[in-house]
Amino acid sequence: MGFTEPTEFFQVTFVDYPGLEITTRDMSIKEMNEMMIPSSAEALKNTKVLDEMINRFIAKVVTWNLQHRKVDEDRRAEDGSCVACGLSEGDLLPTTAENFKCCSVKFMIGVTRDWMISISGVSADLKKLLGNGGENVELLMKQLATAQSPLS
Ligand SMILES: [Zn+2]
Repeated sequence: MGFTEPTEFFQVTFVDYPGLEITTRDMSIKEMNEMMIPSSAEALKNTKVLDEMINRFIAKVVTWNLQHRKVDEDRRAEDGSCVACGLSEGDLLPTTAENFKCCSVKFMIGVTRDWMISISGVSADLKKLLGNGGENVELLMKQLATAQSPLS
C-alpha cells in the first residue's frame, strides 16, 4: 500500500505585526528551489524580484485576517473607498496580489520576509539577509522611496 503525506498548513507568525494571522500551504523542496530568493538587499530593490516574492507568497495563502488599511486622502474616491481596489478601510482584503498591493511596501516586504523565514526554517543566509533587525528592509525602503512608483 502506498502512502501520501498529509497536506500541511502553515501558520506564519509575525514579530512586527501581532494579531496578524496568515495560514499558507506548505512548499515542496522543488518549489523552494525554484523560488527566486534575493541574494542581497540590492537584489530586493529590483521590482521583478519583489513581484516574484509577492506572487509566490500570495499563491500559498489559504486564509488571512488582513483588512484594508486607512485610505489615504490622495487614494480616496468620493465615497471614501480606495481608488485602487474599491474597498474601504477595515474591509477584509481578498487574498490576491492586487489587493495585497494596497498595503504599504514596508508592510508587504515585512510580511513576505517573515513568511520566507518561517517556511525556510533553517536558511541561515536568508535570516542573515532579511531578519537582521530589519536593517536591510530599512535600506530597501530608502531605495524604494527614491523610485517614483515601485510597484505599478
Ligand atoms: Zn485598496
